[in-house]
Amino acid sequence: ENLRKPFVAGNWKMNGNLALVAEFNQKLADVNASAEVVVCAPSLFLHAFDKDSFSVGTQNVSHLDNGAHTGELSVDMLKEAGCKYAIVGHSERREDQGESSELVALKAKKCVAAGVTPIICVGESLEIREADNVESFVGEQLDALINAMSVEELSKTVIAYEPIWAIGTGKTASPEQAQEVHEFIRGYFFKVDSQLAQGLRIVYGGSVKPDNAKTLFAQNDVDGGLIGGASLKAEDFISICQAAN
Ligand code: PEP
Repeated sequence: ENLRKPFVAGNWKMNGNLALVAEFNQKLADVNASAEVVVCAPSLFLHAFDKDSFSVGTQNVSHLDNGAHTGELSVDMLKEAGCKYAIVGHSERREDQGESSELVALKAKKCVAAGVTPIICVGESLEIREADNVESFVGEQLDALINAMSVEELSKTVIAYEPIWAIGTGKTASPEQAQEVHEFIRGYFFKVDSQLAQGLRIVYGGSVKPDNAKTLFAQNDVDGGLIGGASLKAEDFISICQAAN
């Protein structure tokens, strides 16, 4: 039996303003979903969310402690702002900021140590999929986590499978394509520890919309979603959250 609690997180990216925060506070007040609901907004807005009926997260965190690191935000600061989750290793940061899988693992480790749940993103480009190298590529991304973190630490994370070719493109992975990689990821962790693998939430991200969420989330190894574009409209985000149960 699958006892994993469904999980849906929105990723606002560099979008939104205080008016949108106020709208979410109002509209999500009675979201009534059986899933855990998280909004990962720009960190400046975290203070302004109500955080009663949903949790908030950030989209990045430093792997370092407070100190001489201009422009960075530490996990302690984010926690004080009410942050319970942090997206780490989003493909946009791997690309734009050159974040390596090793750095992503350090960030995830830092989060876990502070009691913040990292939502760790993995996923391949179209080029890698077309060359039939999805499993070796994603496997290497997972190796970096497995090498840096204990089973106990890994059990306090959420993994997001986000094929890059499906992010912001309107091209969703088919439910079968998503399930295939989710099953691979769970199997990969199974080799580390069977209980870890059974309890680990693996969510899908890439053009999830209200009309495709239900069939994606119905797959055996898909435990919810990480939602970009559709998380900026409260109604759409709520209906996606309600599709996970
Ligand atoms: C994302 O950036 O995490 C994402 C899944 O974006 P979108 O839903 O817009 O494809």
